[in-house]
Amino acid sequence: NLQDKLDRAFKVLKGQGSITEINVAETMKEIRKALLDADVNYKTAKSFTDEVKEKALGLNVLTAVSPGQLLTKVMNDELTALMGGEVTELDLKNNPTIILIAGLNGAGKTTFTGKLANFLKSKGKKPLLVAGDVYRPAAVDQLQILGEQIGVPVYSNIASKDPVGIALEGIAEGKKQNNNVIIIDTAGRLAIDEQMMDEIAAVKASTKPHEILFVVDAMTGQDAVNTAKAFNDRLDFTGVVLTKLDGDTRGGAALSIKSVVNKPIKFIGTGEKMEALDVFYPERMASRILGMGDVVSLVERAQQQFDEKEAAELQKKIRKNKFDFNDFYNQIQQIKKMGNMKDLMGMIPGVGKMMKNVDIEDDAFKSVEAVIQSMTKFERENPDSIQQSRRLRIAKGSGTKIEEVTKLIKQFEDMRKVMKQFSNPAAAAKMMRNMP
Ligand code: GDP
Ligand code: MG
Repeated sequence: NLQDKLDRAFKVLKGQGSITEINVAETMKEIRKALLDADVNYKTAKSFTDEVKEKALGLNVLTAVSPGQLLTKVMNDELTALMGGEVTELDLKNNPTIILIAGLNGAGKTTFTGKLANFLKSKGKKPLLVAGDVYRPAAVDQLQILGEQIGVPVYSNIASKDPVGIALEGIAEGKKQNNNVIIIDTAGRLAIDEQMMDEIAAVKASTKPHEILFVVDAMTGQDAVNTAKAFNDRLDFTGVVLTKLDGDTRGGAALSIKSVVNKPIKFIGTGEKMEALDVFYPERMASRILGMGDVVSLVERAQQQFDEKEAAELQKKIRKNKFDFNDFYNQIQQIKKMGNMKDLMGMIPGVGKMMKNVDIEDDAFKSVEAVIQSMTKFERENPDSIQQSRRLRIAKGSGTKIEEVTKLIKQFEDMRKVMKQFSNPAAAAKMMRNMP
């Protein structure tokens, strides 16, 4: 599945607690694929990965986290921004506030109408529902049942076949009963059709709603985007409701719709029950699309611990290939400051479930620290000088085996190479150019 694919793409963890190499080109290709799989349309996915590449070029090497994690953070921020950044609330200042619900058949309009009333009631509002679907008598019953269930009145007129008339009657009734929010459910069609558009446009023109919410089934992927565009061209709606985001629907439609119609997503439906409604948080949706566990909070914690000036100095050292075992030792102390090893590793995608059964000692760096402590000042500053006889002495001094010392030195060299690549804009640019 997608999560596994991304886990593979990030390849965050190779050896315990060490900063490991990631294949950036591979990662970007997987990200693009993952986005397409999640129903993000091609154009959006392409411009997104381009944007991330550009931002990634400016990445500061934060040695307390891996480049992959940093890249993930960039992607998460970028996705969040693309989806509007902040929560967009309903405009409820008018009394009564009129809300018109639009969308295709089966999208979840009637269900959402009930959910929204339930939500607003819990916020102290006094809503009235208007049954405006004149084509399906069952739709009126459906709304009435929902109304009873949540304790909200429903206005209907089954004798009438005129959606505009019913909407106006409903508003008059709501004013009489002192309802401060009036939500008008409407009829859909199986596909975009002129008659439906004319009808709903007429309801809009006569009721002058403060909010027009377009309801769309997130599982319909690309069709959702086309439908959104058609409705927006005609109605100029004020917000989008994405339904059926329960199960494993990835929510890529959210990204595509936002980028095509440029209207905020205001709610998501996550089930058939009246409580299954959530306010849309761009950041949560970004994480959902990336399916990346808690990497972002890991990166944020690392950044908090990391002093900017120190980072700049470190970067200079890395660029000159002067990053040495003293710096490495300091980095380990930084990582340790961030918290318990097991918790930290648990935040990395794919590792969390693995860690459940593994008993990791709290101090996973103990032997690494012991080895570094057994080095002389000269050796720490000149890792290249540590040949066989020195390794033997270090192993003895630290109570480890020479193989362990050799392995650590090798890992250290690998890490230096990767860090150097990431700190050098030209080299990074070259790597990025080879990306898909
Ligand atoms: P309408 O034709 O647009 O009014 O759609 P309905 O509200 O009648 O919903 C169509 C079907 O989708 C019903 O069976 C609903 O129970 C179901 N449905 C609506 N919203 C959701 C949702 O968020 N999740 C799930 N799983 N089902 C939903
Ligand atoms: Mg309906």
